[in-house]
Amino acid sequence: MIAKTSYPFQLPPLPYAYDALEPYIDEETMHLHHDRHFQTYIDNLNKALEPYPVYHTWTLEKLLANLDHLPPSLRTAVREQGGGVYNHDLYFDTMIPGGKPMPQEIALAFGGEEPWKTEMKNAALGQFGSGFAWLVSDCSGKLSVVALPNQDNPLSIGLYPLLPLDVWEHAYYLKYHNLRGDYIDNWFRIINWDMVMAKLEERQRCRRKGFLAPAL
Ligand code: MN
Repeated sequence: MIAKTSYPFQLPPLPYAYDALEPYIDEETMHLHHDRHFQTYIDNLNKALEPYPVYHTWTLEKLLANLDHLPPSLRTAVREQGGGVYNHDLYFDTMIPGGKPMPQEIALAFGGEEPWKTEMKNAALGQFGSGFAWLVSDCSGKLSVVALPNQDNPLSIGLYPLLPLDVWEHAYYLKYHNLRGDYIDNWFRIINWDMVMAKLEERQRCRRKGFLAPAL
């Protein structure tokens, strides 16, 4: 996972074939989204960090959880480009052909799978312009759904990212045009809940170690 790596960041391969999520996410969108957009965030983040060797040993997770500790000349680039790197890595990693069943533990926190979907969809539709809807955990382990603009990452506001839904137009416009809601409905069919549970367990380990302070 790219969150645990540091400068220079490298584009991870897509964890499935480019057409593997058809018909829900089309092959052309996948090429543009992964090979161009994701790559550009990586290149821009590396370019921004290059003159700051003191941060070359910081993991992406540490950079995003400590924006206030960065020099102002670097902070915006990490927030935008670093967020773009983290968010896309997790977005692609949390999808899988055919999807996986939603874990009971997560469904229960929202009163069932359908109430969770409604909440996630409302957050994603309500995000005006570009951004993501997120399933997150707070420091007590409580799960919730939030919408964040642009490439803002939950780590920067003291929340732990579990599952991102990219609602930038580049994520769906070629196939769905203006129908963001249809894209969201289909995205529900291809969620890799095994990966989300792995993130949740990782989050619980982090809590015990407390190493994501101060943000967490
Ligand atoms: Mn995107």
